[in-house]
Amino acid sequence: MDTKKVIRQHKEMNEFFSGGFTVKGAPRTAVPQTVFPHNDTNKAELAKIAAEVAHCCCCGLGKTRKNAVPGEGNPNAQIIFVGEAPGADEDEQGRPFVGRSGQLLDKIIVAMGLQRQEVFICNVIKCRPPDNRDPKPDEIINCIHFLETQLEIIKPEIIVALGAHAARTLLKTNDAIGQLRGKFLEYYTASGYGPIKFMATYHPSYLLRNYSDDNRRRVWEDMQKVMRELGMLVPKSSKKSS
Ligand code: URA
Repeated sequence: MDTKKVIRQHKEMNEFFSGGFTVKGAPRTAVPQTVFPHNDTNKAELAKIAAEVAHCCCCGLGKTRKNAVPGEGNPNAQIIFVGEAPGADEDEQGRPFVGRSGQLLDKIIVAMGLQRQEVFICNVIKCRPPDNRDPKPDEIINCIHFLETQLEIIKPEIIVALGAHAARTLLKTNDAIGQLRGKFLEYYTASGYGPIKFMATYHPSYLLRNYSDDNRRRVWEDMQKVMRELGMLVPKSSKKSS
């Protein structure tokens, strides 16, 4: 690993999503203007799903995981971020997005004016595929009902799909992430509830690997659309100032 490159990326990404991006005179972070509705039964229902995930051995990943990673966050979240599958750090801790890409996701969430605990974060697949390989179709088929149920319980205003795997799985399409991202699409839950607004964007780990101003700007523009849709305050211009 090129340590210098990683440190530089980290520093620049930090500036980009936590200050270096904003416009003079505009608020640095957005302020959620909507009151989060509250439904206490969601918490209990999500805990039930988490317990089922923890005991699930429907596919081979149940044998190789250290910890299942059901997802976490606000049971009444307006936004759900959906990634692909847990990696090594997530497998170790049983929590989603806690490794390097998780640190970047946290920065993006904070740049949106939110705290991690205000949103819900989860994955399509709840157990780590060995060596971080892509999930296999049978693993997705066995696991997807957990995510579908989480979406059904929370009924968020907006689903943000992080990367091609989450977007394609939920939208049941093979379209490229470049075609899917940046615009609101529609998602209906398994019971037909919807449409829930659906925004696909690049996965944080893609952003770390394909590190360019353009890619960072695209993700930030996608998140600004989400913020606008929720009535949150968005800095006037998306022009990068550093
Ligand atoms: N990548 C994902 O898609 N999910 C995680 O939880 C961590 C990394």
